[in-house]
This record gives sequence, C-alpha cells and structure tokens, in this order.
Amino acid sequence: MSRKGLERGVELLRKGAVLLKEPCPKCGGLQVLYKGRKICLNCGELGEAISSPSEVLSDLRSMLIDKIKSASDRLGSESDLKKQAELTDLLLKYVELLEKVGKALKG
Ligand SMILES: [Zn+2]
Repeated sequence: MSRKGLERGVELLRKGAVLLKEPCPKCGGLQVLYKGRKICLNCGELGEAISSPSEVLSDLRSMLIDKIKSASDRLGSESDLKKQAELTDLLLKYVELLEKVGKALKG
C-alpha cells in the first residue's frame, strides 16, 4: 500500500471509518467504510471521485478543526520560542483556511 493511502486510511479511521474484511474488487487493496461508502485505501476506488464538493469541504473543515486542536495543544506545552512561532504561523494558516472553507460551504 502506498504511504499516501495509509495516511488517508489512518485519517479516515480516526474520523470513525470502519475497516472492511473484504478486499477491493478492483485491486485487492484494503477497504474502509466511511459515511456509508466503501473506500479503497490503495486505489481510491469509490473515494474522492464520488464525493460532492460540499462533502470534500466539510471533511476538510473537520480535519482543520482537528489540526487546530492538536496544534493549539502543542503550542500550550511548547517552551521553545522558535517552535512557538512556527506553531502560531501554522495555526494562523489553519484558521484562515477554515474561515475560507466556512464561507465556501455557505456558498
Ligand atoms: Zn482498490
């Protein structure tokens, strides 16, 4: 399995996806069930291709909220000033993107 597929799988499982026993009919790869659809982690079959733009955006929004939480936790426990600056920069980018995603979802 590709590294990207694995990362995607881990991300989906964290968001509540369930690992399926049956392999992908197309490539034999590992499949997960997420929001009522099967997604192959290897070839991406039935993955992003059938997602509507608003689904992709709301997934992105929940991912960003997770990232903001974990970056903000790290910032809270970080004593190195340089790393604090990096984390603040990162948080700023996440928040900006979150704001844009929110606007895009509203239409
Ligand atoms: Zn597949």
